[in-house]
Amino acid sequence: MRSLRGGICALLLLAAAGCASVPLRRPALPPERVAAELIAQDTLTARRYLRYRERLMSVSARIRTASPELCGREVGRFLGIFAVPLPPDTPGERMTARFAGFPVMQVIFVLPGSPADRAGVQQGDRVVTAGGRPVWDPRELEVTGSRPTVAPLALRFVRGDSLLTASVTSVPACSHPVTLAWSHVLEGRSGGNGVSVTTGMMRFVESDDELAQVVGHEIAHEILHHRLLPTPQQRFELEADDLGCYLAARAGYGVAGAADFLRRFAAEWVNTEEAPAGMRTFMAQRIVALDAVAREIARKREAGEALTP
Ligand SMILES: [Zn+2]
Repeated sequence: MRSLRGGICALLLLAAAGCASVPLRRPALPPERVAAELIAQDTLTARRYLRYRERLMSVSARIRTASPELCGREVGRFLGIFAVPLPPDTPGERMTARFAGFPVMQVIFVLPGSPADRAGVQQGDRVVTAGGRPVWDPRELEVTGSRPTVAPLALRFVRGDSLLTASVTSVPACSHPVTLAWSHVLEGRSGGNGVSVTTGMMRFVESDDELAQVVGHEIAHEILHHRLLPTPQQRFELEADDLGCYLAARAGYGVAGAADFLRRFAAEWVNTEEAPAGMRTFMAQRIVALDAVAREIARKREAGEALTP
């Protein structure tokens, strides 16, 4: 390996020496062209982020609303709004604005077919209150805290110059928030108070079935309170694979390819020199166990049995 690296370095040096004899022109870099390019990059980044965010919300909403009975007391009401906080930015000013009844959240998108969509909430609306209360966290507009009330939620918002109210008939859902993390690392993560999936993972998954497997696995960690418990970590991973596969299947996603997906993930991430010792064997065990769960689910579906984990 070392001699190969040395050979590559020698080749690069030779190539650099060769390049030095070629007269190089300095490219013109007009500042206005560079500034326009920065805007083009930002636009592309924002579009990509929103596309990932919408897809992640769509898949996680199906999983969270399909099995609220498995989430114990951690059940809220799904609305289907992705919003971001509006300025002012300092905590004191924001608190004042909230209590003074100014809009504090801007709706970035509304999940098609969601309760908010059916109630007429639109992209660009600026939310003032939900259920008569100021909204503290944009995630409350996706799934409201842990209030499993069935009464329609009154959402007050500003559209243009008008102050409007929509009555949103929300549906029960697991309250664990699912967010998108900006990172090239291939990762889903459960932090004990919510799940995050990286943009790297969003690029890696080849179908909604595979994304459902990632989201189901991480929500399973949350449901089972793994972050609050002592190790063994490996048993937790097997439990999350098992329950996560059921969560995905109960939401209508295909799980026949679950083991194939985990194998592809292992090939991409685990079969490297950086992977911890023993990880390859453990991943092999996970794949075998997950395949057995997927087969069990297929058998229950065939027999018309309930998909009870
Ligand atoms: Zn895990």
